[in-house]
Amino acid sequence: MRGKERKIKDKSKKTKGKREKLLLYNINIWHPEPYALYLKIMQKEKLYGKTLNELIAVTKRVGLPGFAAKQIADWLYKKEIQSIDEMTNLSKKTRELLMVDYEIGLSAPVNESKSSDGTKKYLFKVLNDKFIETAYIPDDDRATICVSSQVGCKMGCIFCMTGKQGFQGNLSSNEIINQFRSLPEFGSLTNIVYMGMGEPLDNITEVLKSLDILTNDWGYAWSPTRITVSTIGLIAGLKEFLEKSRCHLAVSLHSPFDEERRKLMPVQRTNTVKEVLDIIRNFDFNSQRRVSFEYILFKGVNDTPEHIKELARILNGIKCRINLIRFHPISGSDFQSPNLGTTINFKEALNAKGILTTIRASRGVDIQAACGLLSTLQQNKTVQK
Ligand code: SF4
Repeated sequence: MRGKERKIKDKSKKTKGKREKLLLYNINIWHPEPYALYLKIMQKEKLYGKTLNELIAVTKRVGLPGFAAKQIADWLYKKEIQSIDEMTNLSKKTRELLMVDYEIGLSAPVNESKSSDGTKKYLFKVLNDKFIETAYIPDDDRATICVSSQVGCKMGCIFCMTGKQGFQGNLSSNEIINQFRSLPEFGSLTNIVYMGMGEPLDNITEVLKSLDILTNDWGYAWSPTRITVSTIGLIAGLKEFLEKSRCHLAVSLHSPFDEERRKLMPVQRTNTVKEVLDIIRNFDFNSQRRVSFEYILFKGVNDTPEHIKELARILNGIKCRINLIRFHPISGSDFQSPNLGTTINFKEALNAKGILTTIRASRGVDIQAACGLLSTLQQNKTVQK
């Protein structure tokens, strides 16, 4: 114990001068138990990922005029700086003041795998000891990034590897847009989809913050039409998203039948497709904003003529597109992928009923590109160490 105490004392020397902060939180730094909490409190706050309003609050806290927030936003989102010291239109004293409690807060991916088709999968470390996946998908003149919004997921869709991980935490706005900014291909990106790990609308506050930063003039000023947020249809989050953002919406449907969808996606018990479609039907989508439906085809489950007929019925009157995705088998699942012929017939039958339908090409199959596979492997490796 004596050795342990000495070690803790040694560590605390490094943060000498911040004892007031610890006393404020009434933490006994000589005791090993609260040491983790101590480290957490001593971590600097990240500026990257803050909205303009949050940056205004920062400037107030350090006694700067309000306009400095816009200058800081410029450095964070328009110039590619790595440290506060590079904010050269702020005085040296101001930068030093900021550096006491803040840092930029960018972090590079910890692992990368590349598919033979050019798709890449990156792993980012988040929440200290967890991993999330980010996919980079080049396609002719488009380069799309698929970002995660949570670690694991609590929605429990039975065909999903991320769902099998269970819920491990929400990503902060910093951790969401860091995937975009710290991607080696950052400069070439043309589109962003929120279709990685997690249910974005279950982390609506941080997701909306990240969308704010991506689309506002003081941020990256991207057109909202280059961004798509995908959801399984959480009613409360959906309403908020539609009201507060102008980005495209994608809804994971997977079955038009209540009972069948309930089995595939437990969310259907409390947030029915009917309610979701009513909201969409009554929302005034402008000509720019699009709604699409994702439909994973499971062989012999949801690929019959009855499904086509019912899909056409429930989507009647909604201007939309269906993206068909052939299921990729995952371990522990009995579902199988339909053959290409069945998939093409399904697509053509829907098109014939007036619903624009496309088949999404499978990408990165050789690098575990299905959402949740890679991070599960990494998590298992980390646990085994
Ligand atoms: S499909 Fe999406 S919402 Fe369902 S468990 Fe997987 S990550 Fe969560």
